[in-house]
Amino acid sequence: MSRFLNPRYRALQAYTPGEQPRDQHYIKLNTNESPYPPAPAVRAALKGADLEDLRLYPDPEGTGLKQKLAALYGVEPSQLFLSNGSDDILNFAFMAFAPQAGAAFPDITYGFYPVFAALQGVPFEEIPLKSDFSVDPESYEGCSRMVVLANPNAPTGKTLAAAQIAAILEKNPDTVVVLDEAYVDFGAESCYPLIRQYENLLVVRTFSKSRCFAGGRLGYAFGSPALIADLEKLRYSTNPYNINRLTLKLGEATVEEEAYYRVCCEAVAATREQTAKDLAGLGFEVLPSKANFLFARHPALPGKTLYQELKKRGILVRHFDWPRIDAFNRITIGTPEQMEQLLETIAAMLKGASL
Ligand SMILES: *Cc1c(COP(=O)(O)O)cnc(C)c1O
Repeated sequence: MSRFLNPRYRALQAYTPGEQPRDQHYIKLNTNESPYPPAPAVRAALKGADLEDLRLYPDPEGTGLKQKLAALYGVEPSQLFLSNGSDDILNFAFMAFAPQAGAAFPDITYGFYPVFAALQGVPFEEIPLKSDFSVDPESYEGCSRMVVLANPNAPTGKTLAAAQIAAILEKNPDTVVVLDEAYVDFGAESCYPLIRQYENLLVVRTFSKSRCFAGGRLGYAFGSPALIADLEKLRYSTNPYNINRLTLKLGEATVEEEAYYRVCCEAVAATREQTAKDLAGLGFEVLPSKANFLFARHPALPGKTLYQELKKRGILVRHFDWPRIDAFNRITIGTPEQMEQLLETIAAMLKGASL
């Protein structure tokens, strides 16, 4: 740390992204990327892109992409916000909407929420998940804080029903409820239609997981026009050109290929169900997941040991050294072949043959 850093940030603990080691080839099941490529039409759009255009700034409004998303979801462009990945949007939400009382989110959830809170100087309350690792919706009702919930939750994969979210909204008319739907396309119920009823609902989405586009950096959000205008004010005060031209162009091609991505999500969901069964067969406790990952623990295999031993064998999963969940690993759903390799490797380890 230099002596010049603003004292406000000296104690800030930055977010640690999933590791990307380069020492060997790994089966990468640690950052919830899609195992499938972007749609062929996206490849064609990339090939057809004119390098000459990169001379020019991108459209700061993302007009074309907003129109396509608006048509796909049946909303108005004024109810949509675009940004450079959804982390960017979550950060803006903490900046814009956390009241004096701060923010509230589960004790076990996306590890970036406490980082955004600290970055923006927002006090926060971590509300414990129930003993079965589900979110207790009642503990958010009548909350004076900005509520932030990932649905499905990460890293558990567990979901709340839209009716439960609606109940939280009903009881919190005076604070913003941020719903992070990064994984909703893998089988959960989306709450974006509720933006028509609740002016305080912000639903945040990403192209990173279900749109096979983590490297493109593209996120979007649904909200009332007034909420979206607030976010735009902050974006225009930070970096109005925060989505590059290529990403906007490829993002438009992506939205037009909804059918392709639905097939990818269904394939991931089917592989998830099969893998959950197979892991249970090996003695794992597997939480029921509607996301593109599974959260699992084994009675005879400490979470950290499993993570380390898999890494030695060329397979990366995500282990969190956090209270309550250090026995678990979060395993991204890859192709069926990748999951077979994972299962064979774990089965061999459990036999003690190569531990
Ligand atoms: C992956 C993820 C995001 C953010 O992804 P971006 O790549 O920044 O769009 C947001 N929330 C959760 C819960 C995630 O797992």
